[in-house]
Amino acid sequence: MDTRTPPQNLPEETLDPPDWSSVATLAHRIVDDAVDHVARLRERPVWQPMPDDVRAAFQTGLPQEPTPVEAVYGLVRDRVMAYPMGNIHPRFWSWFMGAGNFTGALGDFLAAVQGSNLGGGSHAAALLDQQVVDWLRDMVGFPEGASGALVSGGSVANLLALTVARNAMAGVDLREEGLAALERPLRFYASDQVHSCHRKAVETLGLGNKALRRIPTDDEGRIDIAALREAIAEDRAHGLAPACIIGTAGTVNSGAVDDLDALADLAAEQGLWFHVDGCIGALVAIAPENGWRVKGIGRAHSVALDPHKWLHAPFEVGCVVIRNRAIHRQTFAVSPEYLQATPRGIASGTWLHEFGLQTSRGFAALKVWMALMEHGRAKFGGLIDQNIGQARYLASLIEDEEQLSLQMPVELNIVCFRFDPGGLDEERLKAVNVEIMLRLQETGVAALSDTTIHGRHCLRAAICNHRTRRDDLDLLVAEVLRLGRQLAAPQPA
Ligand SMILES: *Cc1c(COP(=O)(O)O)cnc(C)c1O
Repeated sequence: MDTRTPPQNLPEETLDPPDWSSVATLAHRIVDDAVDHVARLRERPVWQPMPDDVRAAFQTGLPQEPTPVEAVYGLVRDRVMAYPMGNIHPRFWSWFMGAGNFTGALGDFLAAVQGSNLGGGSHAAALLDQQVVDWLRDMVGFPEGASGALVSGGSVANLLALTVARNAMAGVDLREEGLAALERPLRFYASDQVHSCHRKAVETLGLGNKALRRIPTDDEGRIDIAALREAIAEDRAHGLAPACIIGTAGTVNSGAVDDLDALADLAAEQGLWFHVDGCIGALVAIAPENGWRVKGIGRAHSVALDPHKWLHAPFEVGCVVIRNRAIHRQTFAVSPEYLQATPRGIASGTWLHEFGLQTSRGFAALKVWMALMEHGRAKFGGLIDQNIGQARYLASLIEDEEQLSLQMPVELNIVCFRFDPGGLDEERLKAVNVEIMLRLQETGVAALSDTTIHGRHCLRAAICNHRTRRDDLDLLVAEVLRLGRQLAAPQPA
């Protein structure tokens, strides 16, 4: 070991600036630009293709020399802020994402400034994190004493819940013995509309994709309960061990909500874990007009939900809630010698890492907390109702147009439709509709995505956006018709 003492006369370095006042000036400018960015969203394209020279700038190597932070910010402003994905724009309806909110962005900034680590401990961030989990728990109707954890998003929330379900239902000490100790292979059940993250979860859990049995859905995209019951009986007869039913509250394709009460009944009757993937629909529970659509969600053993979707928290933040706190903790808790609790001091709080896979974790709770404090629950519930109402409005516009056809009933806020002037085969219809979608994106007018339901390709608008107005949807319909007619017209010879 080299124990020589370094020369005492060398200056000691730090990342802090020599002059805080110039940092304050820059920070004020950044805030002014940020407010302007959001205030003037509507004037900008939803998305724009990036010029080649800007794209090339992302290929430069690791910087060796310093650059003044003002210049660094200039690069961010010109190359990054100018080319967003677009999901906070009023006419972004692709996939399923929240539209963000400025208070939440300030929360993320303050969380980073404080820099607290949510691995646990006795400090305000840890308490606030647990308070947000409690609020989300209350929203889905879970009892006091249920536990939860904030995570990066819905995929990880589902993974954690399925891990708890797997361990709770294994019948052996899976943590100690591993999957090889299972007497019979475990089976999980979900509809054929289940989100792809569940496949990743069962694969990651070592159960294999086949352990997730997909059950057919009805015309509205909801799991067929009778078929599920038969599948469970058939698996038992074949020596498999049914373990968990996954209900979906809001499918990603069409927003369908499984009959959660019926699934809770069936799970209870069969002695199975009942998990709800509520990444889209769990928060509908707080919407006064539509809350009934997710009735039964509070009866689940676990729920995954996504504040960065319908609570519009800036990315990222997901949440898992687990009814049985002890089982939740038993699944993940490890107490190494370097993470022991103390009777007083920083390590006297709850070790939050005992409820998930991450040890270090950022302070994502603050952005959720600040926005909920600012607006209150009723505002968020009302915004969810508003989006569901807007989806019905869009569906009615589509139904009024001969050349547009609605492809699925609208349950929540997802509208599946396509331009179909008649006389085009499936292949040509798909080509025309994909081209409509791409031109809408490339001209910056609107962002839709697409999917295939019951073998038919369609465009898909998911209105999870507190900035959308009905006139944005009028514009969408007019543009789809205009582009469709142009594209489907016979080409001049
Ligand atoms: C979005 C979504 C997920 C995945 O959530 P992420 O936050 O994107 O990881 C899972 N299930 C459903 C139904 C979803 O809509």
